[in-house]
Amino acid sequence: MAGHKGRPHNVYMKRFASIVSLVLLAASCATNPATGKRQINLMSESQEISEGQQASAQVDKEMGIYKDPALAEYIDGIGRKLASVSERPTLPWHYQVADTPAINAFALPGGFIYITRGILPFLNDEAQLAGVLGHETGHVTARHAAQQYTRSVGGLAGLIALGVFVPGAAPLTGLGEQGLGVLFLKYGRGDELQADQLGVRYASRAGWDPAGVPEMLQTLGRLDEASGQSKGVPNWLETHPEPLTRVKDIQPAVRDASAGRTNLFRNRDAMLRAVDGLIYGDNPDQGIVRGNAFIHPPLRFRVEFPATWDIQNSPDEVVVRKAPNLNVYMLLEEVPNVRGGNIEQIAQQTMQSAGFRIESGAQSSINGLEAYVGTYQGSLQGIGQVLMRAAHIIHNGNVYMLAGFAPLNQFVESDDDFLKSIRSFRRMTAEEAESVHPNRIDIYTVRQGDTWPSIAGKSGGVIKASTLAVMNGAETNSQPTVGTRIKIVTGG
Ligand SMILES: [Zn+2]
Repeated sequence: MAGHKGRPHNVYMKRFASIVSLVLLAASCATNPATGKRQINLMSESQEISEGQQASAQVDKEMGIYKDPALAEYIDGIGRKLASVSERPTLPWHYQVADTPAINAFALPGGFIYITRGILPFLNDEAQLAGVLGHETGHVTARHAAQQYTRSVGGLAGLIALGVFVPGAAPLTGLGEQGLGVLFLKYGRGDELQADQLGVRYASRAGWDPAGVPEMLQTLGRLDEASGQSKGVPNWLETHPEPLTRVKDIQPAVRDASAGRTNLFRNRDAMLRAVDGLIYGDNPDQGIVRGNAFIHPPLRFRVEFPATWDIQNSPDEVVVRKAPNLNVYMLLEEVPNVRGGNIEQIAQQTMQSAGFRIESGAQSSINGLEAYVGTYQGSLQGIGQVLMRAAHIIHNGNVYMLAGFAPLNQFVESDDDFLKSIRSFRRMTAEEAESVHPNRIDIYTVRQGDTWPSIAGKSGGVIKASTLAVMNGAETNSQPTVGTRIKIVTGG
């Protein structure tokens, strides 16, 4: 949950218009710059760039860019070296670190490449990093990204029709994972292999060992699909299929590119330096989950949820599900564009514009904060008629909505849980806020007698032994080598 970020609604409308005009253009046949093959192009290069620019402004807002100037410069520098030896060196290339724990990297048309903060600790040297960035660069040079965009017209139009980003409609679409998902379109197997091959080409041309490509695929293949997930941002495995098959498929290209080259480099130390101190998992700047509490130090509030429920934080909202019953859930979000009036009026207007009818409600005080707590009825896509217990709470000049939703016949049994969470909403003191620290990557030298479980144990349970091994390019049942420097996670 980021707070104070306007939703880029008009960006969508503009983009919708430009995509409609795009479809009306006559298709032209042109030579693919990276592959040399003739293909149908629906998008000119200038359109490709302007689509990419608009989508990238949206990613910056919705996902956030990780604030570390040295790391940003390092990543952009490596990316630009790769781009400069590609077939399209003059695109406006940008390589940025998205501030999400999800393990992924993605390319927008026109040369806007993102690598997530979450994937970086899993790359063991610069050659592997160059492998990931080279692969994404390949999706742009071979125009896969542009073609995906062209194909996604229906999806994007559908998204706009749903009004996912329309302020005030959020309670209706709170579970809409389509939001950023539209940027994470799956590429086909052929596109993936081609991007791997282009990654090998660019990495080796720029001097890195192209073996970094299969190595990073192997590491990502070892992770299970649940690792490093973040709502709205899928993992690499969901968007890049069959990594282990691709490890084998790419070997001939790696052999060819390395033949006779004795000066290819790995730069492991530079990569370790770059990730030393990197935030691992949630970033407190965006609000974090600790036990069954959601804590937001910059916005200075704390709220408790039922112990067994599943808390998912995203830039726009916090969704808390009574798993495995996904039809009962709670939602916390900032009410955008509050235009004044008292809290009762704000609550009723907001809910009304979201299509919910008020059943009852009263002003109240929640831990000293002015609030309006009511029950509402409405219908939700995929669930049907629901009852909703919602509190609208004023805190530090913002209005927050904390609400529980349940199908009509499950409301009574859920309402105690909803009310308990609502009553737990409280301000954090400055001292409390300052005492919240994220988990971070640290560098550790392996000692005699260390095992992956013993090293993981020292970090206070913030990382599993198996994940720690994968993070260091090792099999879970292997022994860490005494004297080597490895990445570990230290608890906040
Ligand atoms: Zn890919």
